[in-house]
Amino acid sequence: MGSYREFHRRSIAERDSFWAEEAKLVYWHKPFGKVLDYSQPPFAKWFVGGETNLCYNALDRHLAARGKQKALVWISTEVDQTRSFTYEELFSEVNRTAAMMQSLGVGRGDRVIIYMPMIPEAAFAMLACARIGAIHSVVFGGFAAASLAARIDDARPALMITADGGSRMGKVVTYKSLVDEALKLAKHPPKKVLLFKRGLDPAMRIVEGRDVDWNSLEKNFSGKSVPCAWLESSEPSYILYTSGTTGHPKGVQRDVGGYAVALASSMRRIFCGEAGESMFTTSDIGWVVGHSYIIYAPLIAGMTTIMYEGVPIRPDAGIWWKIVQDYKVAVMFSAPTAVRVLKKHDPAFLKKYDLSSLKHLFLAGEPLDEPTHVWITEALGRPVIDHYWQTETGWPLLSAHPGVEKTPLKMGSPSFPVYGYDVRLLHEVTGKPVADGEKAVVTITPPLPPGCMTTVWGDDARFVKTYFNDFKGQLVYSTFDWGIRDKDGYYFILGRTDDVINVAGHRLGTREIEEAVSMHPDIAECAVVGVADELKGQMPLAFAVSKSNSFEKKKLEREIMETVDRQLGAIARPKAVHFVTLLPKTRSGKTLRRSIQALAEGRDPGDLTTIEDPNALEQIKQALHP
Ligand code: AMP
Repeated sequence: MGSYREFHRRSIAERDSFWAEEAKLVYWHKPFGKVLDYSQPPFAKWFVGGETNLCYNALDRHLAARGKQKALVWISTEVDQTRSFTYEELFSEVNRTAAMMQSLGVGRGDRVIIYMPMIPEAAFAMLACARIGAIHSVVFGGFAAASLAARIDDARPALMITADGGSRMGKVVTYKSLVDEALKLAKHPPKKVLLFKRGLDPAMRIVEGRDVDWNSLEKNFSGKSVPCAWLESSEPSYILYTSGTTGHPKGVQRDVGGYAVALASSMRRIFCGEAGESMFTTSDIGWVVGHSYIIYAPLIAGMTTIMYEGVPIRPDAGIWWKIVQDYKVAVMFSAPTAVRVLKKHDPAFLKKYDLSSLKHLFLAGEPLDEPTHVWITEALGRPVIDHYWQTETGWPLLSAHPGVEKTPLKMGSPSFPVYGYDVRLLHEVTGKPVADGEKAVVTITPPLPPGCMTTVWGDDARFVKTYFNDFKGQLVYSTFDWGIRDKDGYYFILGRTDDVINVAGHRLGTREIEEAVSMHPDIAECAVVGVADELKGQMPLAFAVSKSNSFEKKKLEREIMETVDRQLGAIARPKAVHFVTLLPKTRSGKTLRRSIQALAEGRDPGDLTTIEDPNALEQIKQALHP
């Protein structure tokens, strides 16, 4: 591990010279004067005074050498279409979109909410925002109107961009009608909505004076070029909302320069993606993985990025491997849940196609269990690299680094701390570093490296309070994940320390779901816990107290599920709702979620000395095993 260790050591001990070197991977319009300003801990400003632009690095910079190379390939197995764009073509689409946005009044620093399915126009919109210095906030299409409205009110966008609909498993998912609903709920709606029509929702309504048709508007701006806004390195590039322990999602704010450097560097040191090669990331642009490794990083590296609308098993479970063969994919990035889905299908699909172009498959977003890691490694015959990160970090924080040194992989482990991250495992009570083999909280000693969140949008105090407040007397960033390091230095992630659950790689706060369940008028109170699920990793399970004594369980359960769908979206729908007359609580009124979760997973409920009424736990047991 000589060279990895040395690389990591230098990134911390010789931070300035290390990152000044990595920063050469990015084009700087104006060179930075200082690598890091850490005069106001924990706020880190990287590459101070430097001016750059994410869109310039992703597109303009490649025009001379690879203008005719494919930059973006969009494949939809939902609507049976493929569209490809060379760097030149993507450049002109993005310029036109930027001009359209400017004509609608969007300028530097303005927010733009993008609520779109996986179509090329979503990529144009993100890159166009980056070009003119507008701050995009992409909201995942699975979120419901109320969740979208909360994000609108926090970001206060000048413009929203949407499409009539998307498609999932051959069924139309309407987007525009949901935007209409959200804009009715929002207190600070934007004046304009730019609408891309795919012809998927003929019943869609148009709001005169507010909705602007993309296709009509773009005619006015063909061939238009829009200069890049040169942004100081620490200016915001985007906001991405994520769930936490409170009911209100946090706007993770990212910078420009640090993010560009982290992405360019990670493509080389971790993902081993080279200019001219293809990268296929199966995530959605609504998630951080989509921002970093569908859009920005592969383009900054001069690669061809593949954007996929569809599921892994349609038309059959060989579709992703066919894409790897057809586009000679060198780097692939997916999630453990998708692999677990594929595992249920005929393994012959993995042998049917020529996968010789594939250097590595990277998996992240949720714990990768050892059997799944072994299965996919054997089935592919290629190294499968588990790596661990969060929306907050923007790029991996634990990973193998094949671009630095090919260290052996251990099944079920995301290997080692990524360079730039001073990762420490701290005892949850004492806050002291633990010995190898002892379970503790995964923390980062600040400053956070380039690419990580710089603050919570509009709320610096919340940034400090949320992330740097877990250990008394110590300013350390808590990941809120349990981890353990073995004697060889390999890390293993053991789940969250807080009330956040991970459903098929999507992060949800149990508080958020509880609030949604409680929106049902017949519910007095409830507790939601995450329980282990074979396919999705975890699923929410709800225990609810009804206001009335007589009700039809199945009917009320269905209504609660519909309420959650409406408030948060189907991704948050509980697996089941169990009814009890009281919830297990401590004498101080705190719901004993860990005990409920333990019972639901068939484990010991743990220390119950603080419980107010033991009968409550009996009811949970009864509900689970009637
Ligand atoms: P998100 O911000 O939605 O990407 O969720 C981040 C959370 O997902 C982390 O805090 C972990 O709990 C979990 N996670 C991400 N990657 C991994 C991984 N490779 N192994 C275990 N857990 C992971």
